[in-house]
Amino acid sequence: MPAMQNMAILGSTGSIGVNTLDVVARHPDRFRVVALTAKASTGVLLAQCKQFSPEFAVLMDAPAARSFEQAIVEAGLTTRVLYGVEALEKVASLPQVDTVMAAIVGIAGLRPTLAAAASGKKVLLANKESLVTAGALFMNTVRHHGATLLPIDSEHNAVFQSLPREFNGDLDRCGVRRILLTASGGPFRTLPLEAFACITPEQACAHPNWVMGRKISVDSATMMNTGLEVIEAHWLFSAPPERIEVVVHPESIVHSLVDYVDGSVIAQLGNPDMRTPIAHALAYPERINNGVNALDLTAAGALRFEKPDWARFPCLALAFDALRAGAGAATVLNAANEVAVERFLEQGLNYLDIPRLIESVLSAVLAPAAHTLDDVLNLDHEARGRAWAWQARTVHAAGAGTIAVAARS
Ligand code: NAD
Ligand code: MG
Repeated sequence: MPAMQNMAILGSTGSIGVNTLDVVARHPDRFRVVALTAKASTGVLLAQCKQFSPEFAVLMDAPAARSFEQAIVEAGLTTRVLYGVEALEKVASLPQVDTVMAAIVGIAGLRPTLAAAASGKKVLLANKESLVTAGALFMNTVRHHGATLLPIDSEHNAVFQSLPREFNGDLDRCGVRRILLTASGGPFRTLPLEAFACITPEQACAHPNWVMGRKISVDSATMMNTGLEVIEAHWLFSAPPERIEVVVHPESIVHSLVDYVDGSVIAQLGNPDMRTPIAHALAYPERINNGVNALDLTAAGALRFEKPDWARFPCLALAFDALRAGAGAATVLNAANEVAVERFLEQGLNYLDIPRLIESVLSAVLAPAAHTLDDVLNLDHEARGRAWAWQARTVHAAGAGTIAVAARS
């Protein structure tokens, strides 16, 4: 009999959260849900509470929590309803919780994910923004508090699976030459560049291979997602930027690879379904069923591998630049990107404005190394302020209600 794992699932109503609960529901003998959290999707959260009877449910504001509590009582459940960031930190560090799925999107996930690491939990990390914004602090917290960190991002989970079990952060010792991160190239890999100015949020969110939340879908379209993943790989695997290479692989069957000094390349393959990395991390080092179809290689057909087109995907270059710049540059990059994507999704910015805004904020904000959580949050705040100012100038210059296309400072 496997030991029962008690779980807090942060961001349970999102794409990763729902996939996690799908796997968890298949193994009631292994996983018990202690806490579920959401920002605003109370309908989905209520259905999840009815199915999993957690001890705690967390929402982000008091009015939503009050009416949710009413619904919980009417449903005859005993779930305690909490709200706010402190409540997220609390459920991530409860003594009765063994495993925390960190699946909130954006830097909003940082504080609870850090709290989970600081209380020595097994942390299943989907929230890549935690590592991008606070990499050194986060990895130190994991080490000092004996937490276990398992990557959920499909690329990093693939790299983890392709490294030797005894890997301890020393690539040379394991004979690793490079880490090869694959990226689908998103929906605009072959779109004529002239058409980029007219890209709509719906087009950007229509990913060819994966169904994901809207923010990461836009990041996949700009390839900022891969840029964030390069920074994530740097922290997870102690890999300098020159040993991380991006390979565009439109079929999303090879999820990433490790290139060894003897010429061996070890890869992890599978259908593009997040339940694979989720189940891998949930049961590690065991393997469990998760409803994912077996890979049919002959049906998958030809697998293509291409160099990234840097002109088409300037966000990828900006992320590499931020990683090479070090100190707080990645925190600034992430903040600017979050604002740019939010404004693009609200149709307040044009698609081409996304890299322009990020580049402008990166060059305007001094980004010293952030040693504490407050340092990180202050730097994030400053970069967001610059980003909002940039987009306000852009919208203003283009005229209210219209979309800007011209380059700006
Ligand atoms: P999503 O938008 O579908 O879900 C996000 C979840 O976080 C929801 O439950 C939402 O209620 C909650 N949330 C959003 N903003 C919040 C806030 N300010 N405070 C508290 N909770 C908040 O996102 P997703 O696609 O599931 O992605 C989640 C994370 O996993 C992201 O960091 C993403 O980069 C990463 N990831 C996702 C995928 C994927 O296939 N979806 C793959 C790899 C990595
Ligand atoms: Mg990924």
